[in-house]
Amino acid sequence: MTTSPDPYERSLPEGLAPETLAVRSSLARTQYQEHGDPIFPTSSFVFENAAQAAARFAGDEDGFIYSRTDNPTVAAFARRLAALEGGEACVATASGMSAISAVVMSLTRAGDHVVAARELFGATVQMFGILSRFGVSTSFVPLADTEAWARAIGPQTKLLYLESPSNPLNEVADIRAIAAIARAHGIPLVVDNCFCSPVLQKPLELGAEIVVHSATKYIDGQGRVLGGAVIGRRSYIVDTLGPFLRTMGPTLSPFNAWVLLKGCETLSVRMHQQSANALEVARWLEAQPGVERVHYPGLESHPQHRLAMSQQKTGGAIVSFDVAGADDAARRRNAWAVIDNSRILSITANVGDVRTTITHPASTTHGRIGAEARREAGIGEGLIRLAVGLEAPADIIADLERGLSRVGR
Ligand SMILES: *Cc1c(COP(=O)(O)O)cnc(C)c1O
Repeated sequence: MTTSPDPYERSLPEGLAPETLAVRSSLARTQYQEHGDPIFPTSSFVFENAAQAAARFAGDEDGFIYSRTDNPTVAAFARRLAALEGGEACVATASGMSAISAVVMSLTRAGDHVVAARELFGATVQMFGILSRFGVSTSFVPLADTEAWARAIGPQTKLLYLESPSNPLNEVADIRAIAAIARAHGIPLVVDNCFCSPVLQKPLELGAEIVVHSATKYIDGQGRVLGGAVIGRRSYIVDTLGPFLRTMGPTLSPFNAWVLLKGCETLSVRMHQQSANALEVARWLEAQPGVERVHYPGLESHPQHRLAMSQQKTGGAIVSFDVAGADDAARRRNAWAVIDNSRILSITANVGDVRTTITHPASTTHGRIGAEARREAGIGEGLIRLAVGLEAPADIIADLERGLSRVGR
């Protein structure tokens, strides 16, 4: 948590670029002058004497007390991510879901209302369902329909919530316009920036108040640990969210924070290379007769290509496409054939890894929502989602071609 004292931070010149901060922002070195970031696996911290303990607890003296509240390695990760997102402060959490639930719960009480995008990560939708038991209701609106966001706001609405681009169809929200609507109502827009990471998209610069992350995805980038984070104004993070998290306790472990610190160092090169690979795969897919449609915001054929490119640096690394088929059964059979004929792609629902993952949303991540809801959301039986990694694009393409060549028109 960034409530930790500034003397613990290594001093750096002003005005450094995000790529520099991603590798250079850190805690002050210990007396051992280590070059790498240290891990502090300790539950508590020792005081010089009783008076110092009293001063720390009273908040009269800066310093660490207990690792549920704050830990140097966790603080170093939070500072690095705040620097990358261009936010005043950041607090790290045990997972993306704990970051998301803490933000929504810290901003609402019974009787309040939230407006959220219809196209959200599944567990986030379920979380809004749980919160309805505590008297917090949610209206879901189509992500790309900016007018619908304005219409759904009522007197009890306390926040707007979205992800962009959406999963798995890569629909894009007009973040600037929706942030302006939120501001006009004096409420925050919260953006889950997991799919772009701060390397490709900076929601705070686009007008959002709060950014949440599942650091489990691109920030780790290598499928090792779970983590989450919230970035925003110091007044919100330190005065409102910090005390909430300290009490509820979904604390990031120092070890996971250290892994995520390392992830930040390579985030920029990974995001740019994985995006370039994704664009190459998307362009190839678009030319295949067995593919009906490719959903990738980096392609000129994407209906929101210009909007996407006005707020993201690239189209990102997620590519979805519809495999052709005479009917739903054939589309599913053909999609499964593409998946089962790949040799190197990992059949797993996770995204953000340096290894390309492939999944069939209709029978996995979106299997439980039912055929009707899937039709409404545009998730067909032929849809495949790729989270493109760092393999040579030619190898990814060769893997996809093996299955696609069997798909007759
Ligand atoms: C994975 C994911 C989450 C949840 O993160 P966890 O770290 O698994 O708790 C939230 N939002 C998006 C967009 C995700 O992909």
